[in-house]
Parts: sequence; C-alpha cells; structure tokens
Amino acid sequence: KLPGFDYEPRPYRGPSAEQILEKRKRFLGPSLFHYYQEPLNIVEGKMQYLFDENGKRYLDAFAGIVTVSCGHCHPEIVKAITEQNNLLQHATTIYLHHAIADFAEELASKMPGNLKVVYFVNSGSEANELAMLMARLYSGNLGMIALRNAYHGGTSGTIGLTALNTWKYSIPQGEIHHVVNPDPYRGDFGSDAHRYAKDVQDHINYGTPGKVAGFIAETIQGVGGAVELAPGYLKLVYDIVRKAGGVCIADEVQTGFGRTGSHYWGFEMQGVIPDIVTMAKGIGNGLPLGAVVTTPEIANVMAQKIQFNTFGGNPVCSAGGLAVLRVLDQEKRQTHCSDVGSHLMGRLKDLQQRHEIIGDVRGRGLMLGIELVTDRKEKTPAKAETAVLFEKLRELGVLVGKGGLHGNVFRIKPPMCFTRNDADFLVDALDYAMSKI
Ligand code: PMP
Repeated sequence: KLPGFDYEPRPYRGPSAEQILEKRKRFLGPSLFHYYQEPLNIVEGKMQYLFDENGKRYLDAFAGIVTVSCGHCHPEIVKAITEQNNLLQHATTIYLHHAIADFAEELASKMPGNLKVVYFVNSGSEANELAMLMARLYSGNLGMIALRNAYHGGTSGTIGLTALNTWKYSIPQGEIHHVVNPDPYRGDFGSDAHRYAKDVQDHINYGTPGKVAGFIAETIQGVGGAVELAPGYLKLVYDIVRKAGGVCIADEVQTGFGRTGSHYWGFEMQGVIPDIVTMAKGIGNGLPLGAVVTTPEIANVMAQKIQFNTFGGNPVCSAGGLAVLRVLDQEKRQTHCSDVGSHLMGRLKDLQQRHEIIGDVRGRGLMLGIELVTDRKEKTPAKAETAVLFEKLRELGVLVGKGGLHGNVFRIKPPMCFTRNDADFLVDALDYAMSKI
C-alpha cells in the first residue's frame, strides 16, 4: 500500500483559517504573502499528502518549497528527532556532541574531491552568506558573480546575489555582477554555453580589476522556474573564474540529495567539482538546517577568526539531518526520483502536445517546471491563466509551486516519495484544469 493513501487525519480542533489570518495580519510582518486567494490552513501532513482544517486531502507537489525531502512526518525522521529531543535539545557547539560529528561525517562521505569540511547553519541564506564570506576571505577579492534569474537568499548579503527584482530592496548590493542567464528556453543564446560563458569573461574584463572573489549558481534554478543551465556552461565558467582568482560555489539548496534523479548533486550534471557547496531545505526534511561544505584550504582562512553559530548543528537538527541522509539512501530515493520523474516528464510532454498554453516543460527527476505562455512563438507569459489554473488545482486537491520572473511557471517538486500514481493524478488534474480555461 502506498504510505498515506489510506491515512485518516486526526480531527482538528484548532482555530480556523480566518482566525489565524486575523492574527497574522496583526502580528506578523506585512510582507508575508500567501499563495491562494482564500488562505489555506494546513494542519497535518503524511508523506506526500497534506490535510487542511476540514480534513480535505491535498497531493503535495511542492514539498514546503522543495524542503520535505523524505515525506511529511516520515516515521524514521520523527523517531530520530524525538529520541534526540528527549535526551538533549541544545547545549551549543562549544561542547562536544556526537550527533553533529556523526552528521558531518555522513555528509562529507557524500561529497566528491576534497570537499570534506562541513559548517552547519540554519538556512539557505545563511549558508550562502557564509560561502560568500569564505570566497572573499580566501581570494582576497570582493567581486561576486551570480546569474540573472538566480535566487540565493533574502539576507542583506545574499539579496545582492539574488537577481529577481521581486525580492530586491533598494539597499547597497555590494560588488555583485549579474551575468546573462544560460537559459536554453528564454536565453539570448539558446543552449550555446560558450556565448554565455563569454559574458562572464566580459564582466571580469570590464567590470572588475581582473580579479574576482567567486561565482555562485544553482544548476537548476529553483525560484527562477526550474531553468537548467545550458550544458557545458559550468565547466567553462569555473575555468574562467578560477583563472581570475575566484572560487566556485554550487548552491545545492534545491538540487541536492538526489532530487534530480540523474545525480546526487546538481553540479555533477555539468561534470564539475565546486570549491564550496551550500545546502539547506531538503537536508532537514523541514528542520531549520543548512550546511556549507568546502575544502581544508578554504576552511583554513576561516580559522583566522572565530566562526561560530549558536544553533548550527544543534543536536536535534543533526539527528534529524543524519536520519534524512540515511532514509534517502535506504529508500533509494535518487533512483526513485529518476524513475517517477521520467514518467512524469513523459506525461507532461504529452500534455504539452494537447494544450497550447504549455510553452515549455523542463527540469530533471522530481524538480520540474511547466512554463505557461499565451503565444508559443512570442513566449508571452500567461500570467492571468497561471493564476486561474493554480486556484483550480487547489480545488482539485493538488498543490504546486509558482516561479519565474513573471510567475508563469508551475514548479513541481514533491516529496521524494511521490509515486507514479501521484504523477498521473497530478497530470490528470492539470489536464482537466487546462481543458476548463
Ligand atoms: N538558495 C536557493 C537555491 C533557494 O531556493 C533558497 C530558498 N528559496 C535559498 C538559497 C535561501 O534559503 P532560505 O530560505 O532557507 O534562507
């Protein structure tokens, strides 16, 4: 039996969506947004399913923004967290604790090359902050290169790396150069990695003293709408950046841990080994956890000062994170993502044949994007239609994400226990919803 299929949620006796919304409006920051016209009050989760206050079941194809990797309340993860929680919740890393050491060892065993030194933090933004600091200290340079259409975080430093203007405030962004995005669907040069890479060289030649601190990229851009970088791009750019004294950072916050099916890490798709890898989201199945993994040489520069993080590698998060890595291995989730992902991709391509509105279907494994356009030739973003379909999917019991600069890309990134049946249900719901507009 599929886990969750016959699962009955517990009766909910908490406050209603309206009551929560009222408090949220009064006490939580105004920039917090909610996705749906009518707020959705999620009260319980089981593997790839979520339940609202009325017990309505939703197929979760967004995994809490690509975060619930093993599944909601996966029993093994719950067990590991609960056991640690009952023993010791926190004591800080100035003392020894086995959970952080065991977790670091397991994580390092997943890394190629010389990437063996682990730093734990609490989120993706923090991981990228630390990576940027490392790049600047190690190289002795300031300039960072990031891609247009990138998302790397919302903190003062990382907001500069993020390229989408929807997220940006008018504050100093500090020595960040955004280069042309190697986007095979919308990019200026199609899939020609050489022409995109030349833009990186141009920026270094004309926008910096000839030296840079580093380059950062996601191999498949998540918030940007599941854009997979043109093949061969990272190899060319890593060479250029290293020649200019910089270090290469792979942001694996969304692409890591086998989600893409073809590889455990996104950067492996492009045959490169970065100098620094950042991760978060799926590493904790929902626990606030992030990590930076780098080489001993780069880690050495951090030893000049105290590098300390009160919660990073907290025993409960470490026990949970270690359980995540083991569950993903034991349940062979990478192979599963590849299998279910190719089935889903096949069905989506088929759907594209029948619905003009689908301009592009892309991505890998269980990290897919469906870009909606009103005109396939002009690639005009179908903004209004995307919004209508999104609401319709909710009605049908399917939750997906939205992304891209124009918000016209459905992001399909479910928990990695998503099955072929789930994929069929999702495609049928899309098909039905699209036939109605
Ligand atoms: N990098 C990527 C690729 C992300 O998608 C995100 C979050 N959407 C971040 C970094 C920032 O992570 P967090 O929200 O945990 O700070």
